[in-house]
Amino acid sequence: MKPPKSDNPPMRIFNYINGKFVEPFSGHYIDNFNPATGEIYCAVPSSTHEDVEEAVKHALIAQKSWEEVSIQEKSAILMRIADLIEKNTERLALAESIDSGKPLSLARKMDIPRAAENFRFFATAILHYSTQTYQTNSQYFNYTTRKPIGIIGCISPWNLPLYLFTWKIAPAIATGNAVIAKPSEITPMTAYLLAGICRDAGLPDGILNILNGFGGKVGESIVKHPKIKAISFTGSTKIGREIASIVSPMFKKLSLEMGGKNPAVVFADCDYEKTLQGVLRSAFTNQGQICLCSERILIEKSIYKRFKNDLVEATKNLKIGNPLDENTQQGAVVSATHFQKVLNCIEIAKNEGGTILCGGGAVILEGENENGFFIKPTLIEGLDNKSRTNQEEIFGAVATLIPFEDENHAIELANDTIYGLSASVWTENIGKAHRVAQKIDAGIVWVNSWLVRDLRTPFGGMKDSGMGREGGWDALNFCTEPKNIGIKV
Ligand code: NAD
Repeated sequence: MKPPKSDNPPMRIFNYINGKFVEPFSGHYIDNFNPATGEIYCAVPSSTHEDVEEAVKHALIAQKSWEEVSIQEKSAILMRIADLIEKNTERLALAESIDSGKPLSLARKMDIPRAAENFRFFATAILHYSTQTYQTNSQYFNYTTRKPIGIIGCISPWNLPLYLFTWKIAPAIATGNAVIAKPSEITPMTAYLLAGICRDAGLPDGILNILNGFGGKVGESIVKHPKIKAISFTGSTKIGREIASIVSPMFKKLSLEMGGKNPAVVFADCDYEKTLQGVLRSAFTNQGQICLCSERILIEKSIYKRFKNDLVEATKNLKIGNPLDENTQQGAVVSATHFQKVLNCIEIAKNEGGTILCGGGAVILEGENENGFFIKPTLIEGLDNKSRTNQEEIFGAVATLIPFEDENHAIELANDTIYGLSASVWTENIGKAHRVAQKIDAGIVWVNSWLVRDLRTPFGGMKDSGMGREGGWDALNFCTEPKNIGIKV
């Protein structure tokens, strides 16, 4: 692979503090690469604790006024943000595709519409969010208020950049908080564009502050800041654990959305064609870089061979190419580091005795994409569920096939990892579907479907996949502090 070209100075993006685009205090910038070309295309502020101090100073003041703004007005501003995201879909989708390597068609169909939906959902949710009263007897009653926390720190990953960034920010702002948010340093572009959209929509200065930079620097400063009273984090289990160890003794509210090793459980009595397409999509959408992607495909023994052959065939037919090409189904993985990590996982699988059924390595494309980070979607069989390949999250377009004997065996395999984020179950037997869904230890189980989201439902993982839930009332509850007031009349 050739070294990245950097003949032209890359475009710069800035931090967004108190309604202004500003340089980082350090004056330093991080190179950001276009994963489809391997070239540097933008410079990202390398922020430090000084930028966090500045943002906190303004956020504290701004939040006091924002808290007083009526629910109706807050809702109207969030609706305008949603409208502007929608109006700018093409621009945002292009930015997301260039920044992350995902197919432009996917960003246009999934990432950007969902970002608009996140704002619209919480804009309307707050209009219906209410608290309780409890009549103890004729002389005594209680009522509960829910006040904003103050400043919430929102830290998000690179795989669904604007989708997950807005999923955290929208409920925090809607409930009257100020936010200090950090997008991934690898995919900061749409968060940067969102800042301008929020300003145009009339969000008061200081309510949304966006700081860019490395997790170990600015991310950790956000996590440690005593005036930031809650942390909402989506990312790896390793970093989530580190964050928990810092904020727990500080008694901050904490929401963690972390890794997974999600099973797709395919029974012999499934709707075969629909299942094949569903499992293909669940393994390889966004180059397998969705926390909910199926990395272990458990298949009932009686159909194992047939399903394997058909899935391998369908996988080989996925079109890998320039993410900007409308026909591309598999774009680039997000970075050189992640590219190496996924290739390394494939090597580990081979060393563990796995058989590569298809894929198994990088793809060199021609022309402007010759240095891009492209990997062939890969299916592997022959590995025990206890192997590293079947226990550790890969987060690239790599999935394993594992045969199972019966319902109990499928459940046992599905649950045999430290993770518990999501699962899918494929069967036409309604009783079996319910039984298996109930017994799988995962925060989200889809039956005969995958990644169908209703934003009112609780979203999050069990075991080492998460703590707390996002979405619906759970998100609004996380962003507010309840207080009970007891009255004797
Ligand atoms: P990551 O944990 O490396 O980074 C996530 C974010 O945390 C980034 O913004 C990063 O800069 C920041 N960060 C890193 N170190 C930090 C520190 N010490 N203090 C504070 N912030 C820090 O994860 P990633 O590689 O960006 O994303 C991939 C991971 O995210 C995968 O494990 C995937 O499963 C997970 N993920 C989970 C969900 C979910 O909803 N459960 C959704 C998407 C991604």
